[in-house]
Amino acid sequence: MRIVVLRIGHRYVRDYRVTMHVALVARAFGASKMLLASDDSSIVEGIKEVNERWGGSFEVECIGSEQSRWLDAINAWRKDGNIVVHLTMYGLHVDDVVQEVRSRCRDEGRDVMVVVGAEKVPKVVYEVSDYNIAIGNQPHSEVAALAIFLDRMFEGRELRVEFKGRMRIVPTARGKRVLDMSKSSTDGKG
Ligand code: SAM
Repeated sequence: MRIVVLRIGHRYVRDYRVTMHVALVARAFGASKMLLASDDSSIVEGIKEVNERWGGSFEVECIGSEQSRWLDAINAWRKDGNIVVHLTMYGLHVDDVVQEVRSRCRDEGRDVMVVVGAEKVPKVVYEVSDYNIAIGNQPHSEVAALAIFLDRMFEGRELRVEFKGRMRIVPTARGKRVLDMSKSSTDGKG
């Protein structure tokens, strides 16, 4: 199952940190790509640096901020027979629909685009999405919503995926153990 995240509403500079966290969560929780409705290439560069250090092939593509650009991306995704999920506090409870989404991916070979907003999300997103899904019906954060949705979709398996990067963490009960594979030696610094 392939999952792509579409981040809309990103405000240049102001949203850098939150959008970077959306990308980091998407990467760490099993999505393969993020489409960013902006021209903010600093996010693209930031993720390249993370990949270079920690591995994986997660990618960020800037598609421009105009509504027509991200609507085209949504429509193209649906035209290919794939599923669009919009995460919103106004949607259906995740546990009431996630199994249906997962089954359609498994049985019908569909991929999923997950749309997350920043400020107020235009009404059209609610209309073009196949599913409007709530991670509880209280307002919180696109970062938290995305993490929980991906974890529900992958049923926790995403947290065991190995990225095989230059830097590898050796899980320890206390302290930090990180291997720098390019040096084939161990150091204790994080
Ligand atoms: N008030 C905005 C609106 O009307 O769409 C939402 C702003 S919220 C800070 C930013 C994003 O976080 C939303 O677009 C949505 O993707 C996500 N989000 C926040 N709370 C959520 C929830 N309970 N369930 C699912 N997604 C949520």
